[in-house]
Amino acid sequence: MTFLVLLGAPGAGKGTQAPILADRLGLPHVATGDLFRLAVHEGSAVGLEARRYMERGQLVPDSITVKMLLDRLAQPDAGGGAILDGFPRNLAQADILATALAERGSAVGVALEIEVPEAELVRRLSGRWICQANGHVYNESSHPPRVAGLCDLDGSTLIQREDDRRETVAARLAAQLSALREVVGYYRERGLLRTIDGLRPAAEVTEGLLAAARGAVGPGARSSEAKGRVG
Ligand code: AMP
Repeated sequence: MTFLVLLGAPGAGKGTQAPILADRLGLPHVATGDLFRLAVHEGSAVGLEARRYMERGQLVPDSITVKMLLDRLAQPDAGGGAILDGFPRNLAQADILATALAERGSAVGVALEIEVPEAELVRRLSGRWICQANGHVYNESSHPPRVAGLCDLDGSTLIQREDDRRETVAARLAAQLSALREVVGYYRERGLLRTIDGLRPAAEVTEGLLAAARGAVGPGARSSEAKGRVG
């Protein structure tokens, strides 16, 4: 069984890399944020409870989060492992995960950190613009619209969410980074941390992540990596 933990601040590129890694390694991508958004969408009891915290940008209490994650990991497709994204977010979650996996005779094989300096994260996150009509997302640096201020797809005006302004982004990020550093430290102390430079082009970050994961995954995953190799 191969459990990989993917760590990175918002804007580090986890959202881009996680589905690619899942595909190349043949493991399900389990993102607690996605599980919560699904629960909210479905209107389940967990969703109703979680929404109160998510709306305020706060973490959902560990009791709810852990149960939801462990239920997901009990699904048959996660029998051979999973790529965990957005979990653990604090030391208590990291400990609970270790205990729960040990009960299954398993463990986290490697924690992959996509490292991006704080100033660059602020730059990436605060450059986000969203189209008013349909929510299409642009980014000043990585995905600018063809005509400034207008959506390529439907021509509607691009707006910046309050959340995505530079000052708001910097404040929110600082809080998230301190929690992330604790979790990074947790895996470093256990010799499980591998850090990948998130400033490199996305395809190189993918290769770095795959190389770091290689020790923790089976031969089937290695052959699918070979097919997708770049450069
Ligand atoms: P994300 O998509 O990872 O940014 O998660 C969206 C929201 O879901 C977060 O702002 C939290 O409210 C909640 N959430 C996701 N993962 C966790 C977690 N591991 N612990 C607590 N809350 C979480």
